[in-house]
Amino acid sequence: MNLETIGLTETIKNNFELLKTNDECLLGRVALEHKRMYRVWTEQGELLCEVSGKFSFNAQLREDFPAVGDWVSLKPRVAEGKGTILAIMPRNSKFSRKSAGDTAEEQIVAANVDTVFLVNSLNEDLNLRRIERYLLLTWESGANPVIVLSKADLCTNVTEKAAEVEAIAFGGVPVIPISAEANEGLEKLEPFLQPGKTIALLGSSGVGKSTLTNRLLGEDKQLVQEIRSGDDKGRHTTTHRELVLLPNGSVLIDTPGMRELQLWESADGLSETFSDIEELADLCKFRDCQHKDEPGCAVVQAIHEGTLSSERLSSYNKLQKELAFIERKSDKRAQAEVRKQWKNINKQIKQRSKY
Ligand code: GDP
Ligand code: ZN
Repeated sequence: MNLETIGLTETIKNNFELLKTNDECLLGRVALEHKRMYRVWTEQGELLCEVSGKFSFNAQLREDFPAVGDWVSLKPRVAEGKGTILAIMPRNSKFSRKSAGDTAEEQIVAANVDTVFLVNSLNEDLNLRRIERYLLLTWESGANPVIVLSKADLCTNVTEKAAEVEAIAFGGVPVIPISAEANEGLEKLEPFLQPGKTIALLGSSGVGKSTLTNRLLGEDKQLVQEIRSGDDKGRHTTTHRELVLLPNGSVLIDTPGMRELQLWESADGLSETFSDIEELADLCKFRDCQHKDEPGCAVVQAIHEGTLSSERLSSYNKLQKELAFIERKSDKRAQAEVRKQWKNINKQIKQRSKY
């Protein structure tokens, strides 16, 4: 397997050279995680891996363990079809959710995604607040969002709807109406489906993600790939992978976790999607203005003047409450970790906005 076709970049290669412990080490990309066992794609084929004892010992948080999409350095045992993961290469982006239970610990559901298609149906009422939340989530992941408006064939005022969405999509986020059913508009997604690029889909159930996925895979291909596994006495086993190679050479990450994402973010990410409100807040008379009924509040004034909608302010307030909640729940260590990650992500966002 040629690693370039599954997203290998110079940066990852360089990191691997720095991190590998000896010449036996192989570089690979995690295609599936199952109870701390990982299917990893390498130049020597697919290997079933565990993390080393040392790795496990050093891993403090759940996010320290490999996730689908991660690049890892491993010690292979090719004859056995197995290997031992020694290190994870730094992630360019990551999507995470809170683990089940009370701990606000982060679980990574996809790593190293370049572009996320935020799929929203033009059929039902297009929920702008929901799109804002997805945008926020994506900015914080470090990936680039593209808003895909699906089921255009069921909508009579596509241009109007697209304009509404463009109004809330800051920083030149592309807004692309498509119909997977009628096979229309999909060519506009091609610039994001370049060879070696990794994409993922986000959106509520029923918006057409599976239908779009099948289109991207091509009519007669299926998500499940047939492989002949060495220790299986030549029988064909159909094995599910969450890293999927698309016919045009890009990689799709399709994990169940991506379908049930919860918010996990920082105040810095918040300002990215609500930069208009944050800018207004700078003009408020009081530093700690809550934008309710304080005198000299620039945010409330903007609402009166009609330059800011009150719905937008209330979704901003709601997100801030959620943030405060997560902050209270997390332990100090987790908070410190998250802050560290955000610093990197913000750096990336800032660099990106230069172009
Ligand atoms: P998912 O839950 O996001 O994966 O959504 P699905 O891909 O399963 O689609 C949900 C329903 O919407 C299915 O009945 C699809 O046939 C339908 N659907 C998907 N894309 C389109 C489209 O472009 N046009 C129309 N009319 N229906 C679509
Ligand atoms: Zn104010």
